Amino acid sequence: MSATSPNPSLGLQSKRWNGLRNILEREGPFCKDDFSPSPDNLEFLQTKCKVLVIGAGGLGCELLKDLALMGFGDLHVIDMDTIELSNLNRQFLFRRSDIGASKAECAARFIQNRLPTCRVTPHFAKIQDFDDTFYQQFHIIVCGLDSIVARRWINGMLLSMLRYDSDNTIDVSSIIPMIDGGTEGFKGNARVILPGFTACIECTLDLFPPQVNYPLCTIANTPRLPEHCIEYVKIIQWDKENPFNVPLDGDDPQHLAWVYERALERANQFNITGITYRLVQGVIKHIIPAVASTNAVIAAACATEVFKIATSCYDSMANYLNFNDLDGIYTYTYEAEKSDTCLACSNAPQVLPIEDPNTTTLEDVIKLLCESARFQLKSPGLTTVFQDGKKKTLYMANVKSIEEATRKNLTQSLGELGLQDGQQLTVTDATSPTAMTLQLKYQTNEIEMN
Ligand SMILES: [Zn+2]
Repeated sequence: MSATSPNPSLGLQSKRWNGLRNILEREGPFCKDDFSPSPDNLEFLQTKCKVLVIGAGGLGCELLKDLALMGFGDLHVIDMDTIELSNLNRQFLFRRSDIGASKAECAARFIQNRLPTCRVTPHFAKIQDFDDTFYQQFHIIVCGLDSIVARRWINGMLLSMLRYDSDNTIDVSSIIPMIDGGTEGFKGNARVILPGFTACIECTLDLFPPQVNYPLCTIANTPRLPEHCIEYVKIIQWDKENPFNVPLDGDDPQHLAWVYERALERANQFNITGITYRLVQGVIKHIIPAVASTNAVIAAACATEVFKIATSCYDSMANYLNFNDLDGIYTYTYEAEKSDTCLACSNAPQVLPIEDPNTTTLEDVIKLLCESARFQLKSPGLTTVFQDGKKKTLYMANVKSIEEATRKNLTQSLGELGLQDGQQLTVTDATSPTAMTLQLKYQTNEIEMN
């Protein structure tokens, strides 16, 4: 399949858009109140409506194709990745000759060649490389991401862009709807988020199970699963024996073969079965196999929602669709509720209950922020301001010199650090572009004085 040459008959008058015209130029019982049937609707899609697609992988390729064929004429796509051989079975905008090139750039070029009415602007970059002035230019943002951290970050960005009127209501013109698709093997979901109005990513954070991390003691001493043996080789044996004098690379077949051999030996020692090369690959790279048909269904659901929001031709889905085609096809939609205590969108002060400030160390607090379903932070940095106005960095893992200087605080109790009941901690993390404020609430009020 090669891209066809530009075809002038694809313009606004083309027969290609007749199906869309039926929807956009006629009144119907399900249209939203602000819908007015008119040829202007198609023109709006093709010339004015600006949509950002985040991710040009499995979902992103489907999304770009769907949106272009649905009449959208001004798409942007962001992706920081380059094309690998293993992508080609489902990321159908790429060819073997594209291996090593930017996904965003190749996808944009392919769509544009195939459908010259659609202008696609690629961004070979991370979402974190852009600030609010970039994101502000879009009418709708649609995500086909495989990373929860990235989803949370863009969610935080869109929330930070909300403007409020004097009576503290949201200025609706500052809302950029976000459509989020996600797939994992045969399961997928699609959701519509109106930042500030409907449930955001953080409101439903407990839907994401925390990533499985096996306890080190189990891996080292009492392995029971084939995964434990593979993790052992990955975490302990590789560093010890350093077989190729380089860090382990999950894309290098020689490395994987070495891990496979050693994991098999270890599994035999403990009478564990089930080590396969494919499992080794999965554990090392944290891969859940991608399924093209799931991507197609979820992207179609997302693109339909983008179309409905852009044209008002029908009500948006409310607001969370689950899909499973593991065994037959099963799907349903439910309304995820906005959480009154959401870290990102509730504007409510976040209270952090502390059992006893004399025994709770800073490390305990950080562990809680990382491991509890409510927070699921990655590597939080904590600062505070004392009553005398002095600012203190309590801990910061990301900057080496600060980490070294603040490491000693980890083993100190909150009382020893001089933190009072009700004191606020400012927390930064990779999961959000903005800082979050937590208020300490001590259950025992006595702080021991030394
Ligand atoms: Zn929320």
